[in-house]
Amino acid sequence: MIDPAGAPGESGNVTGELILGIDLGTTQSAVGAVESGFPILLADADGRRITPSAVWFGADGAVEVGRKALRRRTVEPGRVVTSVKRLMGRRHGEEREFCVPMERAADGGVKVLGRSPEEVSAEILKELKRIAEMRLERPAGKAVITVPAYFNDAQRAATKRAGELAGLEVVRILSEPTAAALAYGLDKLGERSRVAVYDLGGGTFDLSVLEMQDGVFQVLATRGDTRLGGDDLDLALARGLAPDFDTLDAAAKVRLLDEAERVKRALSERESETFRAPFYDGSRSLETEVTRAELEALAKPLVARTLTCCRQALSDAGTGVAELDAVVLVGGSTRIPAVRRAVAELFGREPDLSQHPDEAVALGATIQAGVLGGTMRRMVLLDVTPLSLGVETFGGLMNVIIPRNTTIPCKAGEMFTNAATGQALMRVRVLQGEREMARDNWELGNFEVPFEPMPKGQARVGVQFRIDENGILEVLARDVGTGRDTVVEIRNAAVDVDDAAVEKMVGESVEHAFDDMAERIFTEARLKAEELLPAVAQALADAGDLVAAGERQEIEQAAAAVREALAAGLPNPLKAAVQRLDKATEAFAAALVERAMEEALMRRM
Ligand code: ADP
Ligand code: MG
Repeated sequence: MIDPAGAPGESGNVTGELILGIDLGTTQSAVGAVESGFPILLADADGRRITPSAVWFGADGAVEVGRKALRRRTVEPGRVVTSVKRLMGRRHGEEREFCVPMERAADGGVKVLGRSPEEVSAEILKELKRIAEMRLERPAGKAVITVPAYFNDAQRAATKRAGELAGLEVVRILSEPTAAALAYGLDKLGERSRVAVYDLGGGTFDLSVLEMQDGVFQVLATRGDTRLGGDDLDLALARGLAPDFDTLDAAAKVRLLDEAERVKRALSERESETFRAPFYDGSRSLETEVTRAELEALAKPLVARTLTCCRQALSDAGTGVAELDAVVLVGGSTRIPAVRRAVAELFGREPDLSQHPDEAVALGATIQAGVLGGTMRRMVLLDVTPLSLGVETFGGLMNVIIPRNTTIPCKAGEMFTNAATGQALMRVRVLQGEREMARDNWELGNFEVPFEPMPKGQARVGVQFRIDENGILEVLARDVGTGRDTVVEIRNAAVDVDDAAVEKMVGESVEHAFDDMAERIFTEARLKAEELLPAVAQALADAGDLVAAGERQEIEQAAAAVREALAAGLPNPLKAAVQRLDKATEAFAAALVERAMEEALMRRM
């Protein structure tokens, strides 16, 4: 069903048909499109790529979607519909609880505020379509929409109808875990591979085990809980802080829940955060410090329930954790550190964090849309090195071995030598970044290479970088003298760099380009000068008879100019002075070589 390898547009032709990729989530939704061959998510006018799946229906027929709808909740809680996805394709009576009263439709389905779940979902889809058209500056009429793997035919058909009501032809309904696997590039794993997708969102949890063969994914097993997610944690926190929570009116509950959610998100980054709800019920206020440990204690039973589902799904699929090729985290709630730890422990491996968990499904839908529309280049962002990789060399300079944007897998190498006579160890510092000086780049690792002690500049150490298709960097250093190899593996860091960090690094390299270049020129000239000055002084002392008086004067003046420029710390004058000294000593150096050869011949005779 999915075959990126045979995708049209592979030959760089990216003029295809525009198809949107949409994650229509229970709590949040997002839309993307392939632009210039790359899948990207599209941000609204405020720059946000995620839209809450909330719809406000005003008494006068006005409709608002997303954050604007959520803001209306404190004033008109009964007119805001959230989590409508729970009602998609359901019969009246199947869902017992909902944020607004449910009515029975003539056909036995459910209605809320006089609308079918498809009609409410269509409002969210219209908003996403509008955001996309605003960003892309052209009309969009087709979409790929994702649904949970466990959605039945009725639920899938309802999703398709919602798309049509929004003016979108739904060219494919795609399973959320499959979309996530595509976003993580798992379709490029070996011929036959198994992956687990752990998706903990706002109101639902599911774990799916997928098998991929020849670019086609099949869901082997899926288990979950449609009443388990981040919202439960918000509720537990609000209840914990306001013991009379359940007796409050709807508006007060919304205020406390909104603040609980904000604090919860903050605690994924920080160890503690202040919960502030001034006049939450009109008269009382709450202000208290919440720690990550306290939140984790509340999360513990929820996390334990997800792990039970994981074990069941693995058993359904007849798969042990060791047989899995990857474990992927999806859903905003997997940003919670305790969730990540629990998953890592159960699966016995660190989860892949290279994608934003709350954007992966939309990104995967976009990739599928790009493949179907023929706008997707075969090469996706994961396939290139986002930043240059290299090693530190003499003088603290960055020596690039694999430049930025090189397609992986790849390998490249260079020869290095010893900086001092008798040196028996060389430290290899593996660096990533775009700056000229090593200290301004990121160190991915460092190790020591032993080699036979030799005079300065005589030892030969070859350093080779190899990045495999999984983005794992292997650095090999070989002492050419002894043939001894030192191999170090640097996992993941080379390719899995956060987009924002790449942007920042590239931005800084441009910003500092002139200073960096000046520093590199100075350092290179200084190294040369430090080598040249003592050598010239020594030669003049040993074989001064070989130079004419005028030549000697020029050499001495040139050497003085080098010392001056060194002291002044000016890059270009130093470079010029070193070149002048080099030129001034050219004839002298040739004469020295000639004399050395004559002497050697004499000795032999
Ligand atoms: P869904 O698929 O159900 O629409 P998402 O995957 O978008 O949901 O996840 C939404 C949930 O993720 C919400 O409960 C939200 O509070 C939670 N969430 C988002 N960011 C964070 C974070 N940084 N830390 C903890 N929870 C988060
Ligand atoms: Mg989701």
